[in-house]
Amino acid sequence: MAKILIVEDNPANMKLAILLLQKAGYSVLSAMDAEAGLALAQAEQPNLILMDIQLPCMDGLVATALLKQNPATRTIPVIALTALAMKGDEERCRSAGCDGYIAKPLRYQILLTEIKAQLAKRDYSSYSSMELNKEESPP
Ligand code: MN
Repeated sequence: MAKILIVEDNPANMKLAILLLQKAGYSVLSAMDAEAGLALAQAEQPNLILMDIQLPCMDGLVATALLKQNPATRTIPVIALTALAMKGDEERCRSAGCDGYIAKPLRYQILLTEIKAQLAKRDYSSYSSMELNKEESPP
């Protein structure tokens, strides 16, 4: 089962995210700030990272950019979590190197759909053939 690292400074959001991920059967690692998240990502090589954008000290966009510059962590997909559902927010996340983007509050189905989509890009064994056809076939 995939290992997911969540970087989130808000204890209530962290608790919710961990519950949702565990309910879905993922093994979960957590960090309360970007520095701890970067260290864990390098040491534990999670299959995916959920990155809160608003973090104390180093923010999630800077942390993602560093992950994507580091050969040891650059292939790990990063999904940005942001409370600011503002125009241009998704674009800022993507230019920082985030692979996906979810606006908080977290909703179980949206979270799982995005996680599965990102994991599937890295691991074709987890694709169903229907999903493969949907994504890869020309229109
Ligand atoms: Mn935050």
